[in-house]
Amino acid sequence: MSVSLSEADITSKIHDVIDPEIGRSLSQLQMVESIEIDGTNVRVCLELPTPAYPDRGRLTKLVQDAVAAASPGAGDVQVRFTSRIQGKNTGGSIGLRVKNVVCVGSGKGGVGKSTVAACLAYGLKEFGAKVGLMDADVYGPSIPHMLGAQGRPLATDHQGADGQTVTRIEPIEVDGLKLMSMAFFVEPEKAVVWRGPMLHRALTQFLKDTDWGELDYLIIDLPPGTGDVSLTLSQLLGLAGAVVVCTPQQVALLDAVKALNMYEQVKVPVLGIVENMSGEIFGRGGAKAKAAELGIRFLGEIPIEADIRIKGDEGRISALFSEDSPARPHLLSVCEQVAIGIARQLLESPGLPTLEVL
Ligand code: ADP
Repeated sequence: MSVSLSEADITSKIHDVIDPEIGRSLSQLQMVESIEIDGTNVRVCLELPTPAYPDRGRLTKLVQDAVAAASPGAGDVQVRFTSRIQGKNTGGSIGLRVKNVVCVGSGKGGVGKSTVAACLAYGLKEFGAKVGLMDADVYGPSIPHMLGAQGRPLATDHQGADGQTVTRIEPIEVDGLKLMSMAFFVEPEKAVVWRGPMLHRALTQFLKDTDWGELDYLIIDLPPGTGDVSLTLSQLLGLAGAVVVCTPQQVALLDAVKALNMYEQVKVPVLGIVENMSGEIFGRGGAKAKAAELGIRFLGEIPIEADIRIKGDEGRISALFSEDSPARPHLLSVCEQVAIGIARQLLESPGLPTLEVL
């Protein structure tokens, strides 16, 4: 007996599925790319807002249930995914072609902020995104070392159309990541005392002059604590959001709360808190509890593991993403939460200017 499925019912039920990550319907999110009905089989293609979408299985199940509810005679329901990263694209005024600029901050140093920033960049790249990493932690620029970056970026001067000299800096490329650090232009042994305006000028210059190309995500590792850099960035770029890193101890959490307040003051949306170094030594769960108390998203925990320190020291942070690395699932999960948080945040701030569309 041939069963004919009601195409209209199926289509409308699929469009009404609520995306479990963003909390809006697939139709509102314009995620349904195609629905093909072939006999009793249904093939659905959905466009995700990021390739780092957290749990595709959960969404698949919701779509399958919706089809079954619309048409009990349906057979096999296949769900395929594509993705298209969207962003605020707010860097146009300074010539940046970056969809989302994300900063990583902390209340104090030593909590693993740079490690998390580097892993965020690597992880998002693992998912297939085009990623840049900017080390703006002028007080402890450790990112080039962690990535094992060799050499220095090439800076060349060109004559601009108006006769002015224009400097272009070619970022270093490490494993397909575009990397730039203030450390490249500062002699390592020289203590640098950065005053606010100097930092502002240097950072603006670095962002403007570097040839980042087109990026889906630019991750910026901020100096700990201070609001100066965040303020500069929020004025300059309209950040997609900030990720705050802290350790589970109470003192570090208090510092994290200060950092959160600072972002609020400079109007940078907070994507959430990452608890780093969770485990027996420092305890665990403190950041999750604090996030719940403050009504902020918890982006996940990264365990304290000797391997994370060792790989960082050896300049092989990329090895944390190898299939047999125990840290890998934790790191990828944090990346997914950040990526989906950016997509969510984008919908929550519809009034933002879109200066250019890539
Ligand atoms: P910050 O940027 O906050 O100053 P870093 O990322 O430089 O911190 O990390 C400080 C030290 O802690 C580094 O030696 C780093 O390798 C180590 N570290 C960071 N995260 C972890 C972790 N989850 N487990 C073990 N060591 C870590």
